[in-house]
Amino acid sequence: MTLAKPTPDWFNDGLCAQTDPEVFFPEKGGSTKDAKQVCMACPIRDECLEYALSHEERWGIWGGLSERERRRLRRQAAEPVDVPPAPKPKPKTPRLPAECGTRGGYQRHRRNGEQACDPCRYANTAADRRLRETGTTITAA
Ligand code: SF4
Ligand SMILES: [Zn+2]
Repeated sequence: MTLAKPTPDWFNDGLCAQTDPEVFFPEKGGSTKDAKQVCMACPIRDECLEYALSHEERWGIWGGLSERERRRLRRQAAEPVDVPPAPKPKPKTPRLPAECGTRGGYQRHRRNGEQACDPCRYANTAADRRLRETGTTITAA
């Protein structure tokens, strides 16, 4: 068995190509620190990790992660994502009756079969006039 990584061409850009490959395959329980340090500075770290994950590389340090770390990453990726619970609907604020002195107030009087009070009549007339003049009852800001 050889410890050289059988890998795609772009792998030659990896920093491990210039270093001792043994470092990337430490003995069981051996230190992975040196390899990881090299990976952290490697320009193809992301690609390398992707490759290792998609090829289920079992041995060695790839993209800065040990076998165990890659396993954990794959497990996490396979787990269903926690969907946060939907926010509770806000309690509806009861709709207050329209105030007097507004078009809504005027309409409330009419709905209730009442005579509109003066402020409401005035507001309604003003709104009608605005509607005629501007096409909207909304007062320009
Ligand atoms: S990330 Fe690490 S293992 Fe991957 S190519 Fe770079 S140095 Fe090598
Ligand atoms: Zn009124």
